[in-house]
Amino acid sequence: MKTVTILGATGSVGSSTLDLIERDPDGFEILALTANCDTEKLAAAAIRTRAKRAVVADEACLGDLRDRLAGSGIEAAGGASALMETAAMGADWTMGAIVGCAGLEPVMAAVEQGGVVVLANKEPLVSAGDVILDAAKHSGATLLPADSEHNAIFQCFDASRPGNVRRIILTCSGGPFRDWSSERMRDVTPEQAVAHPNWSMGAKISVDSATCMNKGLELIEAARLFPVPHDAIEIVIHPQSVIHSLVDYIDGSVLAQLGPPDMRTPIAHCLAWPDRMATPMEPLDLIAIGRLEFAAPDEMRFPALRLARQALDAGGARPAILNAANEIAVAAFLAKSIGFLEIAAIVEHTLDRYDPPAPKKLDEVLAVDAGARAIASERVKEYAS
Ligand code: NAD
Ligand code: MG
Repeated sequence: MKTVTILGATGSVGSSTLDLIERDPDGFEILALTANCDTEKLAAAAIRTRAKRAVVADEACLGDLRDRLAGSGIEAAGGASALMETAAMGADWTMGAIVGCAGLEPVMAAVEQGGVVVLANKEPLVSAGDVILDAAKHSGATLLPADSEHNAIFQCFDASRPGNVRRIILTCSGGPFRDWSSERMRDVTPEQAVAHPNWSMGAKISVDSATCMNKGLELIEAARLFPVPHDAIEIVIHPQSVIHSLVDYIDGSVLAQLGPPDMRTPIAHCLAWPDRMATPMEPLDLIAIGRLEFAAPDEMRFPALRLARQALDAGGARPAILNAANEIAVAAFLAKSIGFLEIAAIVEHTLDRYDPPAPKKLDEVLAVDAGARAIASERVKEYAS
C-alpha cells in the first residue's frame, strides 16, 4: 500500500491519476488532495477516495470546502502555507500536477521530504531545474517524469550508459494549427486554441501546444532530465501522437515508446514503477492507425520553438524568464486581452528587456519569475490598450 498525495488533483492530470488509483483501492492510500479553488470537484474526490486531507491553495475557498466536507472526517485546509505543509507530509508517492510555476514551491517541499515525486508539472523544471535536481540529490527523492514524451524517453534511455545515446527525439503533434500560415493564426480564438486534435488537457497546456511553446518547454525539460548535450535533443512533428518520443543509440538502434494519446499510460508507469500495472487502455491497434507521419518543425511559423532553444542554450535566468512571460501571455490570451501571435511576441519582448544574473537558489528563481511577470504584464497592457 503506497501513500499518495496529488497536488492539483482536480485538473486533467490530477483526474487521470485519481482514475487509476480508484481502480486499485487496495494499492493506494490517499494522504491529501489539493486544488486551487474547485471545491466541488475536490471535496467529491476526497470523499470518494477517503482522503485524510483536502487543501485549497486559495484561502478564500476554504469556507466552502469546509461546508462540503462537514461530517466526512476529512480535514480541510487552505492557503499557501497549508499547501506547502501538505506537500511536505512525506507521502510515498506525490504527483505534481499543478499548472505553472505555482507548483514550484509545493514540488520543492515534496522533493525535500524524499519519496517518489512525479512531475507532470513541467514549468518548475524549466524555471528551476538545477534547484529541484539538487534538492532531490540531497533528500534522496526519486523524480519520475509523467510528461508523455519524457516518460517515453525515460522508458527507452539506458541511464547506466548515457555515452551510448546519440540523440533524443521529442515528438510533437504540431497542435491544431500545424498547417496554418501565420496570417491565418492571427485571428485564432481561445476556443480554437484549446481544442487539441489528439489530447484532452487543461487550458494552459492546450494553448502551449497550439503555439508549440509546450514543445519548447519540453525541450528544456528533457535537457534537465537526461544527460545529453542540448544539440542532441531534436524535435520532430508527428501528427498522430502514437510514438511519444525516441532514443537514438550510437549503433543506429532507435528505441521508441508507443501508446494511445492518454496520460493514464505514462501516469500508470510512474504509479507502479519499477513494476507495471494494468490500465483500462485498449491495446494499441497499429492496423487501425495505419500510418505514422513525420515532418520537420517550422520555427518561422512557431517562434516559441526558437525562443525556447535560445533560452536553453543561453541558460542562467533565460528559461525562467521564458516560462514566466509565457504564463502571463497565455493567461492574457485566454482572457481575450491579446491575440494568439502576441503570445510569442510578449515572450520575446520580455527576454529582450530582462537579463538578471543566473538564479542559484529557490528564492532567486522566484525573484526572476516575478520580474519577468511584471515586464510581460506591462506589455500585455500595451497590446490591450
Ligand atoms: P489543469 O488546468 O487541468 O489543472 C491544474 C490543477 O492545478 C488544478 O487542480 C488546479 O486547481 C490547480 N491549480 C491551478 N492554479 C493553482 C495555483 N495557483 N495554486 C495551486 N493549485 C493550482 O492542468 P493540467 O492539464 O492537468 O496540467 C497540469 C500540469 O501538468 C501542467 O504543468 C501541464 O503542463 C502538465 N502536463 C499536462 C498534461 C495533460 O495531458 N493535461 C500532459 C503533460 C503535462
Ligand atoms: Mg508532453
